[in-house]
Amino acid sequence: MSVTATASTIQREVDNGLCLLTFDRPESGTNIFDAATMADLEQQLYAIEQDDSLGGVVILSAKKSIFIAGADLKTLLRQAQAGEMRAFIAEGQRIFNRLAALKIPTCAAIHGACAGGGYEVALACDWRVASDDPSTRIGLPETTLGLIPAWGGCTRLPRLIGAERAAEVILKGKLHSTREAKQLGLVDEVVSRDQLLDTAKRKIREGKRPSPSAFPTGDVAAPRITGNVAPGRAYEIITKTSDRSVEQSLAMELDAISELGETDATQNLIRNFFLAEKYKRGSSKQLAEKIAHAAVIGAGVMGSGIAQWLSSRGVSVILRDVGTEELKRGLANIEKTYADAVKRGIMTEEQAKEGRARIVASSVAIEMRDVQVVVEAASEKLEIKKQIFRDLSAKTPETAALATNTSALSISDLAAEVKNPERVIGLHFFNPVSRMKLVEVVVGTETSDDTIARALAFVRQIAKLPVIVRDSPGFLVNRVLFPYLLEAAELFANGTSAQEIDGSLLQWGMPMGPLRLIDEIGVDITVDIANTLEKAYGKRDRAGKILREMQSAKMLGRKSGSGIYKYEGKTQTPNPEVEKWRTKASSHPERSEGSHEPGPSRVPRSARNDRVADIANRLMFLMVNESARCLEEKVVASPEDADYGMILGTGFPVWRGGPLRFAENFGIKKMVGEMENLARTNEKYGPCNLLREHAQKGTKFYAD
Ligand code: NAD
Repeated sequence: MSVTATASTIQREVDNGLCLLTFDRPESGTNIFDAATMADLEQQLYAIEQDDSLGGVVILSAKKSIFIAGADLKTLLRQAQAGEMRAFIAEGQRIFNRLAALKIPTCAAIHGACAGGGYEVALACDWRVASDDPSTRIGLPETTLGLIPAWGGCTRLPRLIGAERAAEVILKGKLHSTREAKQLGLVDEVVSRDQLLDTAKRKIREGKRPSPSAFPTGDVAAPRITGNVAPGRAYEIITKTSDRSVEQSLAMELDAISELGETDATQNLIRNFFLAEKYKRGSSKQLAEKIAHAAVIGAGVMGSGIAQWLSSRGVSVILRDVGTEELKRGLANIEKTYADAVKRGIMTEEQAKEGRARIVASSVAIEMRDVQVVVEAASEKLEIKKQIFRDLSAKTPETAALATNTSALSISDLAAEVKNPERVIGLHFFNPVSRMKLVEVVVGTETSDDTIARALAFVRQIAKLPVIVRDSPGFLVNRVLFPYLLEAAELFANGTSAQEIDGSLLQWGMPMGPLRLIDEIGVDITVDIANTLEKAYGKRDRAGKILREMQSAKMLGRKSGSGIYKYEGKTQTPNPEVEKWRTKASSHPERSEGSHEPGPSRVPRSARNDRVADIANRLMFLMVNESARCLEEKVVASPEDADYGMILGTGFPVWRGGPLRFAENFGIKKMVGEMENLARTNEKYGPCNLLREHAQKGTKFYAD
């Protein structure tokens, strides 16, 4: 074998008349397509075109577990922001066309992750073979990033496997196992890694693959419309180009991606990709101990959820509660979560069994010598928790971190009960623990850096995502959420219908309307949390009269079958009892605090869309205001922490980028102007200093 040329990212070798192009980005564990790699590929293709002795080309990767991960997203984001994406994409199309047009047969030999542009280069080959290694995963995830596969993906894939299956791959944006990839037709053969090259050579011997001029359109369902319109743009190309030329289809790809790149939604989705990477990885290089033994105090909703999660992640857990009944209930919850996970194919029955076996439940004191972390999740009562912490102080090794899952109590108050308060920290998990990725890591005044580092490592070890917050009422997520929830209840009390309020927020992109969320949290819990927050932050966190009336009438939301809505099985209808009070409340404005446009008489008769935006915006302004206050008061250290925390903790739409990013996209100056108008009749809308300052100076939260 002779090496004939090495460009900086791709090696070219010739082996018995067969050209091997091996992608191997120097000093990196991964291959990506940036401008330099594209240029290298073109140079290699030029050399191949000149060499008449070659009988075929195989594309490979030298990396351990990555074929080609896709386009360089940093470059793409930069270009999107500068409105310069078109040229880069056009260049890629031109070079991949050149690969597709080679007169000799070509085959991609895929081992490791093959995504986006990585699969599009494979699509430009005649054949695709893949290794059966678990690291080999194949797909086109562009639409999940607000983009479309525009290096020929939307054009070549339907021509290869038909519109229906191409839509399945492109609109969902999933990475597929090799078994699925073979079934879908994304690859021609799956073989063991050591057979990969020989199989590719065999495919090459089959010659060029005939390319069809048209493809079956099948019956493709249109994607659901959300703020991320990329799936809709891909759908258009897949369904409208079955009788058009490849060139025409590529031109549509180019137009679509260039337009998408200029939208805030796409830029926010790409940024979120980097945020997700950052929070998963963390910045601390410190090698923290691996946690093998933990204790969870309290086996209620949260305690049982946390114990289940830890045990499923290989951590052995001592689970404590006051009595056997409580433990029984907790263990039944744990059992149910494991059974669900098995049913949903998340784990095998064997893994579930091993997980369950890691939990030791006890209602009496039990030896805690080996315990490295304790998570206290007992009832939300200061006296109960203080007693537990005094006890833990005496009975756990001094090296163990003591964490509380409290939603509202002060970490420092609990730390005061412990001999070494520096080992006390908050780990605020969200409900349901098995589904919610966020953990707020709450730092008290005494918490040591070492405890913080260990807590962060522990949260990552159990595959959750930590955001550090300062110990203050409501921390980040509840503090930011509550003014929004409570104002939604006030709008409702003053005459706007529940369906209109929730519908507007759903349309805006929230996963659930605020009134329905109050019902899910429970009206009693909502009022409790509001009371705590009101003590700290005043009127904007006051639970209005309607919520208090509902609480006294035991209409507690979903758990009691009726709240703002009535629940029967899976159906949810307006609750006539509450509707009655609502009318009463709105005809007696003095019965509920503040003034709340848009009430029925004050709504301008503009188009329905304006009204949706009006309701959504005014509620969102409160989230923005509170997020900005959290930044101003250093509850969080950065705008990313506020935005990512809200995305993970509340399902804030990723394509909107979080409350602070939304403010920037909306225009901070414009938002502050609208808030000042609203503040004339409703003081909660008074913009905080940081927002006002940005509006005055024309500055922003983010540097980019
Ligand atoms: P829960 O009422 O379901 O469970 C509390 C459990 O603690 C009960 O089983 C109770 O018997 C037990 N307990 C009481 N005193 C105890 C003691 N001395 N020792 C051991 N166990 C004791 O409550 P929950 O909803 O699981 O909440 C627990 C904690 O998590 C609270 O601090 C709450 O604020 C917080 N939290 C709750 C949620 C939520 O959505 N429910 C979310 C985040 C955080």
